[in-house]
Amino acid sequence: QTMTELPPLTLYLAAPRGFCAGVDRAIKIVELALEKWGAPVYVRHEIVHNKYVVDGLRAKGAVFVEELDDCPLDRPVIFSAHGVPKSVPAAAQAREMLYVDATCPLVSKVHIEAERHHANGLQMVMIGHEGHPETIGTMGQLPDGEVLLVETPEDVAKLDVRDPEKLAFITQTTLSVDDTAGIVAALKARFPAIIGPHKEDICYATTNRQEAVKAIAPKIDALLVIGAPNSSNSQRLVEVGRAKGCAYSQLVQRATEIDWRALAGITSVGITAGASAPEELVNEVIDAFRARYAVTVELVETAKERVEFKVPRVLRETA
Ligand code: SF4
Repeated sequence: QTMTELPPLTLYLAAPRGFCAGVDRAIKIVELALEKWGAPVYVRHEIVHNKYVVDGLRAKGAVFVEELDDCPLDRPVIFSAHGVPKSVPAAAQAREMLYVDATCPLVSKVHIEAERHHANGLQMVMIGHEGHPETIGTMGQLPDGEVLLVETPEDVAKLDVRDPEKLAFITQTTLSVDDTAGIVAALKARFPAIIGPHKEDICYATTNRQEAVKAIAPKIDALLVIGAPNSSNSQRLVEVGRAKGCAYSQLVQRATEIDWRALAGITSVGITAGASAPEELVNEVIDAFRARYAVTVELVETAKERVEFKVPRVLRETA
């Protein structure tokens, strides 16, 4: 009888990690809508940026489309957690479609902020990533030209504003806390009168997941972030890992994407998950390590989260 000795490995598990309250609520909305109205229920854009979640809901009867025009008029449609431009619910209303908005309340809060500043005659600067659905949705709360996008401190220098005395800024909720601070500083230096939120609009979940990565990055040989390539907050976790001293920080969608050869010789690894990545996938990755190493798990918890959001009223009533 031969026993193969597995090499020892310490696995630092970041907490908080994975699902945030907005993602949890958005998934619940789709599930409850399927229960209430039966299949198919249409969803405009991936409800949250995770293939595993989307595939699971598709199997239950959700149909994912990119535009409202791709939905039949007689089936319910759900708008994703990232938020939508004002024109989308307006079009659904004009067509007398039944729709449920799964926009995260923390994204809606930014929409309301933008509207309030606009009503006060301010032009907006949005710090965000071009082309991300949240940025498109938030910019789409105001008429064209009222929200100027900046992605870097260099973009701030190029801004062409209507009146430097009448400006406010907002941000995407899933940005890097540290990078955003640099952009805010550049905005304030160039436009001292600019008005902004107390901190930024970066949400509690984004902030907490980045904090946990900062706590483990200096201790580990490699960091794996479980998340999707189109997930902004997951990509930021990879960047935070690298910035805080873990050169091998990688995004993996699930265990099959782990590059075991690149990990050869490591004795410690950090694991976290983006806000749209389910815990099942974290367990899958841990199991994959257990198959190859004698694993000791150390939980590194930098915050406790108790945030929960209610689903819209229409889905709380019994059918
Ligand atoms: Fe809401 Fe933040 Fe989660 Fe986005 S990451 S859905 S803003 S809680």
